[in-house]
Amino acid sequence: MNTNGQLLNFINGRWQTSSASAYGDVLNPATAQVQAHVPLSPGAEVDAAVQAAAKAFHGWRRTPVGDRIQPLFKLKNLLEENLDDIARTITNECGKIFAESVGEMRRGIENVEVACGAPVLMQGYNNEDIASGIDEHMIRQPLGVVAAITPFNFPGMIPLWFLPYAVATGNCFILKPSEKVPMTSQMLFELIEVAGFPAGVLQLVNGGKETVDALLDHPTVRAISFVGSTPVAKYVYSRATANGKRAQCQGGAKNPVVVMPDADMETTTRIMGDSAFGCAGQRCLAASVAITVGEAKHPFTEAMADVAASRKVGYGLDEGVQMGPVITAESQARVERLIEQGAREGANVLVDGRNHKVGGYEDGYFVFPTLLDGVNPGGELAKTEIFGPVLSLMHANTVEEAIALVNNRAYGNMACIFTGSGAVARKFRYEADAGNIGINIGVAAPMAYFPFSGWNESFFGDLHAQSHHGVEFYTQTKVVVERWPQEWSRQF
Ligand code: NAD
Repeated sequence: MNTNGQLLNFINGRWQTSSASAYGDVLNPATAQVQAHVPLSPGAEVDAAVQAAAKAFHGWRRTPVGDRIQPLFKLKNLLEENLDDIARTITNECGKIFAESVGEMRRGIENVEVACGAPVLMQGYNNEDIASGIDEHMIRQPLGVVAAITPFNFPGMIPLWFLPYAVATGNCFILKPSEKVPMTSQMLFELIEVAGFPAGVLQLVNGGKETVDALLDHPTVRAISFVGSTPVAKYVYSRATANGKRAQCQGGAKNPVVVMPDADMETTTRIMGDSAFGCAGQRCLAASVAITVGEAKHPFTEAMADVAASRKVGYGLDEGVQMGPVITAESQARVERLIEQGAREGANVLVDGRNHKVGGYEDGYFVFPTLLDGVNPGGELAKTEIFGPVLSLMHANTVEEAIALVNNRAYGNMACIFTGSGAVARKFRYEADAGNIGINIGVAAPMAYFPFSGWNESFFGDLHAQSHHGVEFYTQTKVVVERWPQEWSRQF
């Protein structure tokens, strides 16, 4: 940040004040105070970053993979050493509580660790003698210049879903973080600068739509990774692929959880409290709809009402606080409007999180945990991603009915079930239309060594983030068929 409170871009190994004509404010959502100003960088700055990346690529792809991962090992240690500072920054710009910010960073660091396995992960395969004396090999080569565009809700973790795999496999990478939470990326790149990557290998360009469009249209950018809302994911996917790029675009979600009568109610409601209200519901894996089956209805509804009403809401760095604010005033208004809409569609507002103030933080964008009972499965609320601390309840008589409700939606990020029955769990795993499944788990976030496997309107593309998928996404396969006849070689 410069002395005017302006955040900087990191291009060609140097911190630079942007030439942007417009800056956005970076707010603390708990206080509504401005903490910094983020440049909405013009296309020319994207071009400068791409040119520097293209120049660096020549040497970086020729750097042995074992050497390419050395700065990643260093980055892992730097992230560990600075974890508390980064987590405080996440809380101050994103609103989640400190423990959630630490948890997010742990999941990010896990991706750095997995990418350090690139010498094995990016190996190809071969056959000797596909015909007599002829061998065939598949090798993986990096793409060149690649970029990621990331959302506000995990400012530390989501850039690390992409960045480590991209550079470990030999690409040069540009990050365009969310303009709502750019301070965490600034810290990440301060550590990247120390970790010892050559200039141009990793770059940070702050900005908004114009910056994104410049990346999507730049002929030298070979691949785009995106995480954000579904309408923007669709837009980015269409424009990137129309321009001949690879794209992996993760979108929004509306995650259902089925609660069977044989579930352990105490564990289920405790886990569901975190799943629905953790990170103020601003998680793409947040439980948004709970569907009880049969006799689970009354005990679960009562227990969830207690969980919702008793969660302590406030500023995420204050002791004992269990849930922070939502990201902006617009978000707060949108979530409150959706609660109103649910009520209009016939739901009973059992716990109402609207119009609450937190002492000392009266200007913060707080919505308290909200529980809506009897949400109309055909209504707008059942379909819309709320992205706030709101849990909708529906009730079914059988597991078949519950699974039909689970599958009656456009998204497919996650679906969970709580049950004591292996047979019911297996049926659910088999039939639920979602890419991430939780069984007696409330937030089925894949570890870094599995792909983050959203489906349907939650994902556009083929290869997902993390792990083998990340390595495949950032490499192109080359197949070599070779013959070395004895008679062509000098005899020794
Ligand atoms: P968003 O779509 O508003 O923004 C995401 C990124 O796109 C930002 O960097 C932003 O600058 C850019 N952007 C926004 N509008 C654009 C436009 N018109 N043209 C080009 N670029 C644009 O998303 P958000 O509000 O930051 O994040 C919340 C959303 O992200 C939720 O829908 C959530 O479910 C989703 N999300 C999904 C996953 C997943 O894994 N599927 C993970 C986290 C968040």
